[in-house]
Amino acid sequence: MQGTSINLLSLDRSAMENYFLDMGEKRFRAKQLLQWIYQRKVTRFPDMTDLSKHLRQTLQQNTNLDLPEIVSQQRSTDGTFKWLLRLKDGNCIETVYIPESERGTLCVSSQVGCSLNCTFCSTARQGFNRNLEVDEIIAQVWIANSVLESPKQESNESGSIEKKPENCFVSNVENQRRPVTNVVMMGMGEPLLNFDNVVSAMRLIMDDYSFGLSRRKVTLSTAGMIPAMDQLRQQCPVSLAVSLHAPDNALRDKLVPLNKKYPIGPLLDCCRRYVGENNRRRVTFEYVMLKDINDSPEQARMLARILRQVPAKVNLIPFNPFPQTRFERSEAETIDRFRDILLAKNIFTVTRTTRGDDIDAACGQLVGDFVDRTSRSKRMQQQTGVFS
Ligand code: SF4
Repeated sequence: MQGTSINLLSLDRSAMENYFLDMGEKRFRAKQLLQWIYQRKVTRFPDMTDLSKHLRQTLQQNTNLDLPEIVSQQRSTDGTFKWLLRLKDGNCIETVYIPESERGTLCVSSQVGCSLNCTFCSTARQGFNRNLEVDEIIAQVWIANSVLESPKQESNESGSIEKKPENCFVSNVENQRRPVTNVVMMGMGEPLLNFDNVVSAMRLIMDDYSFGLSRRKVTLSTAGMIPAMDQLRQQCPVSLAVSLHAPDNALRDKLVPLNKKYPIGPLLDCCRRYVGENNRRRVTFEYVMLKDINDSPEQARMLARILRQVPAKVNLIPFNPFPQTRFERSEAETIDRFRDILLAKNIFTVTRTTRGDDIDAACGQLVGDFVDRTSRSKRMQQQTGVFS
């Protein structure tokens, strides 16, 4: 829209208060505006009727509430939604909504691609373009809530409208419950490499005048950026998930190359600091189950040993294959055996149900559509190693 105008979706409450104070307006204008945007879902300034005409005109001239364009919306047979969103620079990102009986979880992207290079991850193969702005992060939640609350919220790949899903949280919209009850920063990208924008967006997601989600319902998933995890603990201690995927450094170095910089020992120390001395919360450890790579009983015992000192929950994620990967998903019995070993060692463990795999919306499958500035996508096509 207006080239130099400020997108108000990029301002959290304190930034918006400062914006209004600088204009000579009262601080409470920020609350009013947040309510219009996030609770009433109004993005046209003329419709914001409790603002003075003069203020509405000023906002119209100097700001915007531009949202990414929905390029496509797919719905899985299990009710999972995936959106491909085009950003202002033409790059596209993906966002996934996973409805369950008691909650609806939105998996939000934080970067266009990812600059890390986890070898089992489809996003990693696409390379990296840039960090997302605050408005591009928060817009994913805004769009998901708005689309899912709309009576015409169902559409298939070709964009045609279908009936509402049954047996999923979307059906509860009539009972005034927001479709998005939980947000996980677990889509494309490493959120802690986009720290300031992600923290601002999470603050907005938790703001009572916006979506009002509690800290427990907002989870940030990291590959293990230790210094930024400490910063997060001090500045915005949301629920924490760590992509662990291996019980020892030799294997984790290969699966999650960031491990060479931040190995398992210091990472677990950092997790202990995160939960604090009173152990009120648990860290969720994500562990993708890769056949004959990290799924043996000995590796389960090793994992139980290293997690003994951390209040931990383990999510076992059956690997979701993607084109050109050499990894395979562990057998169901292997995953059950792995889980039972952890449970026997008193490590709370669940196997995550694979959702949305018919629309490539499952964990580790998000790819978007963007210009890779790292050339990694090209290099990947040429690699033939065991972990490519
Ligand atoms: S698993 Fe996460 S951190 Fe690792 S490459 Fe994929 S998106 Fe990036």
